[in-house]
Amino acid sequence: MEKILVHICCGVDSVYALRYIKEQMPTAEPVGFFYDPNIHPEEEYNLRWIETKRVCDSLGIECIKGEYEVDVWMERVKGYENEPERGERCTICHDLRLEKSAEIAKQIGAKYLTTVLMMSPKKDFDVLKEIGERVANKYNIEFVSFDFRKNGGTEKMNTLSRQSQLYHQNYCGCIYGLFGQKKNVEFYPELVSFSKGRLAGSTQELLFIKQIRLFSENLGLNCFEQEFTFIGWRVISSILKLNSKEIYHKVLPYSVSIKGVLRDKIKEKIETENKVIYKLYKSTVEIWKIEDIDNFVWDKLRYNTDPVFIVQQDLNPEDKIEIQLKTEFDPTLKSRNLIIGNPNSYKKEFFYSDTDYYGKGGYSLTEIFSFIEKNVTQIKEGDLGVVILGANYCGKVGEKVFYTLSSKDILSI
Ligand code: SF4
Repeated sequence: MEKILVHICCGVDSVYALRYIKEQMPTAEPVGFFYDPNIHPEEEYNLRWIETKRVCDSLGIECIKGEYEVDVWMERVKGYENEPERGERCTICHDLRLEKSAEIAKQIGAKYLTTVLMMSPKKDFDVLKEIGERVANKYNIEFVSFDFRKNGGTEKMNTLSRQSQLYHQNYCGCIYGLFGQKKNVEFYPELVSFSKGRLAGSTQELLFIKQIRLFSENLGLNCFEQEFTFIGWRVISSILKLNSKEIYHKVLPYSVSIKGVLRDKIKEKIETENKVIYKLYKSTVEIWKIEDIDNFVWDKLRYNTDPVFIVQQDLNPEDKIEIQLKTEFDPTLKSRNLIIGNPNSYKKEFFYSDTDYYGKGGYSLTEIFSFIEKNVTQIKEGDLGVVILGANYCGKVGEKVFYTLSSKDILSI
């Protein structure tokens, strides 16, 4: 069987294009090649790879993951950073990706080469055709230009993408394209990682969920994602000093910023069942002493409230306290619950997809994979459902969303 190497940039662009290629060339064997060092940052690159893999696996198509040669890409586009989209930088970017694809096509003995970039209405079809033919010619293979968009191709792609719940990126891939697309913004959430772990609503959290979905689907399990919007919260910087010495602490989610530096002393100590609350003289800031702060999960929603610092040591009335805190809120963040198997099943096992702001808590992929693998028969037969809840460490938002929608609603979304 003749092979056709298909350069792939993301799950969305490949979900219909691969079906179309199979239909148009039924005697050829498509092999995917994900080579996209233009995607920034690396978490985003991995996310698009996982979604590409999901699409290829569901169609029984092998997909090769290329190297993430971001330095090669950066070097190649030097001097073209300010070019608009569809300009000279994009031509260089296509050239690099298609040239590598042609090289790999030759290596695996493919007779044909194509790219799903031709699916995107934002790409110049003629430029891609010209580049594809030139690089294919160099390696003595044939470039096939598919007009995937014709006969309602774009609508078919959107429908399939929605049905598969594919991650739909909101920028082409590189930082320069993103800078051009979003002008006059203070920061780019797509390029910021505020946390050491998997903060709720972050690309890292989404990548974690998508990895579990890919793993489960490859075991033949049904998966469904329940997306929700919530108010995100991040610590930009926090300092808590006790007698001029910084101490290990955490900040309770949704604490607001403190203006300048707060210098204070303990006014009152209140002992409760699970914590000691220290109140201060000059401000409404509280410091809580909790035994195991690394495994502490705050399960109540609290928005824009007085700052609370959490420590694991006792404080004394004579301690000189110095506090600084800068936080940020984002009302448009999204997270999701992943439901594996039947949500109606009597028995359910819950895991969380995020960690706390400090990268503590949460589960590892290995823990979740091993649970799913051990219980695959039960899940398949509908006796057990596995739910990965999103946005746990900022008020158990995912859990609240899961219980407000009945199983019937979940199935009919
Ligand atoms: S905008 Fe897209 S095609 Fe253009 S250089 Fe950036 S990643 Fe490549």
